[in-house]
Amino acid sequence: MQGYIININKVRDEDLIITILSNNKKYTTYRFYGARHSTVNLGYKIDFELQHSYKSKIPQLRNILHLAKKWNTDREKMYLWQQYIKLFYNHLKEVDTIDEFYFNLIEKSYQLWDKQNSKRVAIESYIKLLEYEGRLHNDFICFECEKKIKNRVSLLRAFLPAHQECVYMQSFDALHVEELFSKKSTLFFNDTEIQKLWLIVCEGF
Ligand SMILES: [Zn+2]
Repeated sequence: MQGYIININKVRDEDLIITILSNNKKYTTYRFYGARHSTVNLGYKIDFELQHSYKSKIPQLRNILHLAKKWNTDREKMYLWQQYIKLFYNHLKEVDTIDEFYFNLIEKSYQLWDKQNSKRVAIESYIKLLEYEGRLHNDFICFECEKKIKNRVSLLRAFLPAHQECVYMQSFDALHVEELFSKKSTLFFNDTEIQKLWLIVCEGF
């Protein structure tokens, strides 16, 4: 099987509880500490096997192969990737059977992560997620006063739009946000704005 490591928890001495997202399921697995084992890291894409036993409800994670990309050794890119992956873990915490949309979205980002600005990849993919879940507010009605927004738009968590004067937050050109919401493109945003949008993504899905 193949999947992404979306969470790692240390238990006892060096043993680990590892959560893996495969194309339509989330697995909680156990990994005993062993010096001969290959290292695993949050965000890794791996090929793996599960071994079930009568002694434990949690299957053992075995025969792990890291399906690495060159950028996995780039500290900064990997750190951003881990932040992004962690958001999926928190978002999908309560469910085990997971629509393959999420795996495919991660997969696409994994392929693009070093080909484009990683934060742009994350923002564009998050917009797709919001749309898929029916949570993309592209009507540009202010969350606070429920009136139409023109010119400048502030974005709250989950990219909820509001008037700047209603929420006293930084704002963006409404046309650029419209382009982002409809075409899933960050093309019109400069890098300073991308940083602001990335921080909104990091607030949580
Ligand atoms: Zn308003």
